[in-house]
Amino acid sequence: MLGKWNQSLEGLYDQMVDWRRDFHMHPELSFQEVRTPNIIAEYLRSLGIEVKTGVGGNGIVGTIRGGNPGKTIALRADFDALPIQDEKNVSYKSTVPGVMHACGHDGHTSTLLAVAKVLSENREHLNGNVVLLHQHAEELAPGGAVAMVEDGALEGVDAVFGTHVMANIPFGAYAYRSGPMMAAGDSFVIKIQGKGGHGAAPHETIDAIAIGTQVVNQLQHLVSRQINPLKPAVVSVGSFHAGGAPNVIADSAEITGTVRTFDPEVRNYIEKEMKIIVEGICGAFHATSQVSYSRGYPAVVNHEKETEVFVSVMEKFAGEDRLVNIDPIMGSEDFGYFIQNKPGMFFFTAAGNEDLGACYPHHHPRFDFDERAMMHAGQAFLAIIHHYLIEKEVDKVDLAVQAKAQSMMT
Ligand code: MN
Repeated sequence: MLGKWNQSLEGLYDQMVDWRRDFHMHPELSFQEVRTPNIIAEYLRSLGIEVKTGVGGNGIVGTIRGGNPGKTIALRADFDALPIQDEKNVSYKSTVPGVMHACGHDGHTSTLLAVAKVLSENREHLNGNVVLLHQHAEELAPGGAVAMVEDGALEGVDAVFGTHVMANIPFGAYAYRSGPMMAAGDSFVIKIQGKGGHGAAPHETIDAIAIGTQVVNQLQHLVSRQINPLKPAVVSVGSFHAGGAPNVIADSAEITGTVRTFDPEVRNYIEKEMKIIVEGICGAFHATSQVSYSRGYPAVVNHEKETEVFVSVMEKFAGEDRLVNIDPIMGSEDFGYFIQNKPGMFFFTAAGNEDLGACYPHHHPRFDFDERAMMHAGQAFLAIIHHYLIEKEVDKVDLAVQAKAQSMMT
């Protein structure tokens, strides 16, 4: 059965490329998606799939009901783009100034549409249902996943799987990890209010730049001196804005940055201690301060059982040599919300290929990926669905046949 499904998927490859290039040419920013979800909903409806639109915002949920009862397995693909100017020289370059699919979400969406077609054509054989989670707004906190979950996208779902194309892993592999795989991502804004004045009379001012640089320096001590070195954490300052003239002492400063953690206790600690450091330094120099700490996506923590299922299914289908067990990465993904609520796992589908120019990092103006990775992502999704909604039944049939054979022998 899986062989037949994969043949059907291969037959859809050109269509996947067409979809991907069309989405690539018409990217839409997080929370502003209109055209993309319309195309998705229209296509799923044309396949006779039940479709809910506007799930948690711009999300689309399709449900393929199998011919027999069984588990409900969800597959997720995100579809938003980024505020980046496309600098590639390709025929399918973005037509929207300053907006670009620089993370491969166009590929995820095209993959899931093709998978939907194959599964909908085989729905009478399925022992259970498939939920298609077409998610908006992955790139911008609070993200689309949490709103889709709150809007009931996971109701009745037994397990959820998702994948991300990865241009920094050479084409062909699948990368995974049991347990924590991607970090929780938070952001902060620190406002320092001093007292401006003449550059020649610093004693009459409260210098927001001098104080702000101390804040930046001391924040480095959070990770290097206060967190257990065996527990991963990142505190990065990404912007520092203050002042405007060489002979004026800055009245105020604004510092922003990102925090990445896996352990919830480390996350709580950094939030608490950051405020103590900022208040302490600013207080010592008579400035006032304000720290706004915003919690972003939770860590992506893959469930052990579903990861084992993924590995065993993929060893059988793709072979052990194509599976890579990776270290956790400090990047974040709002897929974490789905597997906070239901069992499941997230894996990477390798998509890097220097010969095709697919060698730039994600979120780079020249980001691209080997489009054949869409086939690999789709094959993995089909293999997972085959395991849960076909194989189990085959196992039962096999057992029945074996039992019969045994009874005939005795
Ligand atoms: Mn992404």
